[in-house]
Amino acid sequence: MYDFRLDEVSRWIMGKGARTFALQMPEGLKSHAQELGRELEERTGGKCVLIADPCYGACDVDQSFTDYADVLVQFGHADIPSMQAGPDVLFVEVFMDMDISSLLPRALPLLKGSVGVLTTVQHVRMIPSVVKWLESNGHTALVGKGDSRIVFEGQVLGCNISAVEPLKGRADSFLYIGSGDFHPLSVAIETDRPVVVIDPLMQEVRELSELRERILRQRHGAIVRASEAKRFVILVSTKVGQRRLGMAWDLRRMLEENGRSADVIVLEEFHPDRLLPFDADAFVSTACPRIAIDDYLRYPKPLLTPVEVEIVLGLRSWDDYRLDSITGEASGQE
Ligand code: SF4
Repeated sequence: MYDFRLDEVSRWIMGKGARTFALQMPEGLKSHAQELGRELEERTGGKCVLIADPCYGACDVDQSFTDYADVLVQFGHADIPSMQAGPDVLFVEVFMDMDISSLLPRALPLLKGSVGVLTTVQHVRMIPSVVKWLESNGHTALVGKGDSRIVFEGQVLGCNISAVEPLKGRADSFLYIGSGDFHPLSVAIETDRPVVVIDPLMQEVRELSELRERILRQRHGAIVRASEAKRFVILVSTKVGQRRLGMAWDLRRMLEENGRSADVIVLEEFHPDRLLPFDADAFVSTACPRIAIDDYLRYPKPLLTPVEVEIVLGLRSWDDYRLDSITGEASGQE
């Protein structure tokens, strides 16, 4: 099912003259790690170290790899160009071309007018055939290119749906190919257009309007709960592509100007237990935008996004709500 592109990877390792290389990959690929390591050792003559810590995205490069390896290969994610991970890090997209021919006809009645096509990096190679299929079924298919955090046309990240920008006002609905609901949920909230998901792994088709309403109700509840908060703790990730320290200082200034107190805390892995010692009425996450949404119920106090802080302070209206995003311009490393 997976294309690990070992010819390219071994050429790159040998071209670097690396004697040791580290492999990093998301949970879903880790069961292949030992086999990949051995195969690459054989091909390159180098020694391989496997990284077991979680890896959530290209934003999450193991920054200590130089302690034990000459180079790092991260499988499963596209580079984030604006992050500039450095010359000794290689991102290897792992493409999955899956058969969705039985799902496309089920998506058809849910789509309207011109259709914006979006996906994650695993499935970008499927875009041309989906475009062709849409057009042969009477729809205009539109594919946009995101900002400098994005490599491929039509590609979105959980933190960046800028590929939608060029399609605004042109797409009447969106078709997202991929698993999970977070990426298409951002699109549904940002565009207020129907978003249909074709999930190749689950072999499922779903529409997101109900989820959109449920999450918006939950976020509205978080904002209301935080509106009386006096003490805020602003959380900053140490992960290289999620680090928005400059934004944290701006938020602190904004909160203080509006009569609240705020402390800035940095941490690598976000977990409610890590925050127990700290005195706060509400938390603000400047890290991966998924954390505040996906993990919200695990935190005993409201966990807000930066956009939501603006609403709490009356600096933005609820009508202008959107999920948090990390743009190419502010790609971590602040
Ligand atoms: S910040 Fe979150 S959504 Fe963005 S690349 Fe990293 S893990 Fe993915």
